[in-house]
Amino acid sequence: MRHFLSLLLIPLLYTCGSAPEEVTPPPRPNILFIMSDDHAQRAISAYTDELINTPGLDRIANEGMLFRNSFVTNSICAPSRAAILTGKYSHLNGKIDNISPFNPNQWTFTEELHNAGYRTSLIGKHHLQAVPRGVDEFRGLIGQGSYYSPRFVHNGDTLDAEPGYTSTLITDYVIEELKRNAGGDQPFCMLYWHKAPHRNWMPDTSDLPGLLDRRFPVPANLRDDYKGRPAAQHADMRIADMFTSHDLKVTGDYQYPDPGTGGAGFIKNPNFDQVKNTANQLGRLTPAQQKAWAPFLERVGKEWLEVKGTTDELEWRYQRYMQDYIASVESVDRNVDRVLDYLDEAGLAENTIVIYTSDQGFYLGEHGWYDKRFMYEESHRTPLMIRYPAVVKAESENEDLVLNIDLSSTLLDFAGVTPPDDVQGVSLRPLLEDNTPDDWREDIYYRYYQQMDSYHRVARHEGVRGERYKLIHFTEPGFEGYELYDLDEDPTEMDNRIDDPMLEGVKTVLMERIKEQRIALKVD
Ligand code: CA
Repeated sequence: MRHFLSLLLIPLLYTCGSAPEEVTPPPRPNILFIMSDDHAQRAISAYTDELINTPGLDRIANEGMLFRNSFVTNSICAPSRAAILTGKYSHLNGKIDNISPFNPNQWTFTEELHNAGYRTSLIGKHHLQAVPRGVDEFRGLIGQGSYYSPRFVHNGDTLDAEPGYTSTLITDYVIEELKRNAGGDQPFCMLYWHKAPHRNWMPDTSDLPGLLDRRFPVPANLRDDYKGRPAAQHADMRIADMFTSHDLKVTGDYQYPDPGTGGAGFIKNPNFDQVKNTANQLGRLTPAQQKAWAPFLERVGKEWLEVKGTTDELEWRYQRYMQDYIASVESVDRNVDRVLDYLDEAGLAENTIVIYTSDQGFYLGEHGWYDKRFMYEESHRTPLMIRYPAVVKAESENEDLVLNIDLSSTLLDFAGVTPPDDVQGVSLRPLLEDNTPDDWREDIYYRYYQQMDSYHRVARHEGVRGERYKLIHFTEPGFEGYELYDLDEDPTEMDNRIDDPMLEGVKTVLMERIKEQRIALKVD
């Protein structure tokens, strides 16, 4: 069924007396919305080549627009997905943390596109419990999913585990579904959502050879002392405290018990055993995959015995973490490249909007951390690249402040559909057309809700970020207070200037902006 809008014929009248001609407007664009999980901007070479080369992902920026200042509204997995689907902040869509349920009966842009005649598909990691409404083809990982032999739910049916690697399997299904869509007469909206590079960063077997010899630059603040930042001091997300088993892959006889807290130090469950959990993950490998992993795990174990308890331990942990994280991204990169090749081969590239983003950013050793949640730059930011050759100039860049909640309005705009009034995101179409409105937003509001007695012990906070300054207000009992950063002078946010008389005026303005944003955004 084709939506009536695409059948509208626009009559054009000519003054020379000839008969009116009828011109068919161009077909509505297809949408390929690619999202990965926990992917930091720094781990895409279109942003910076200091850590990684991602030729597949970079195609989207090279042939489209790279957003330098793209942010999330609540930096944690499921709430961020809810914000993207609903175009609303967490306090309005209800999915404030990873624990509270998502109301699946609320408005989403995918259902709106479905109702407007799009064929809609969601393949990969959904992480919002229920099978989404208004999705014609759903093949979602169960919960976080596994890197190896993952299990999927297909349109409500739970399938057996599939031998293979998650990023490749998800991509295979995406290409199959694109082929089915290409034969139909509807435009499509495909949500192609990767699990990688989410913890526990298990690389594909093809990436294991040579991986332990790779070295990555160490961030200057890997050994942050958190001076003047009590919430950062209290958080349990340091690489120094990672699980050696689950995270760093020290397994078998080399490690028992695991000395790390892994961000779960609050859990008093005696059955909580990361060594066994790690064995379960490795137990998903096929015999051939186990063979590929065996020499890798053996060497990791031997290296651990050498560095354990020495002054080299933290840097070894950092390199071990980064090796697996970066390799997990490289598999996403190769698979995205495959899908872009398919669009080219099928003649779909010109009329398909391709978005690449993540549900949030991630710490890659900055402040000594992994994980996300904080309003500090590395996890407040998220990658965003959009390719749409009919509208967006190749190799363009944008520096305006944009949010994950803007994506739904943007896609509906290109599809010719008006979102409901309560959607808070704003269409990025003028930015993509290189014509940012004069009254574009000058600051953005952020709020993190998950309780302190949950993973990683991050104090609840809200804040406002402008182009230069950021004010964070910690509201958690015991951690109440403000932090103020000058991002020009202190881009890594090491120097909390809240008591600096030089910034008294800035502080007053930003405190007022938090109040104004709360009113404008209907924060309770
Ligand atoms: Ca995530």
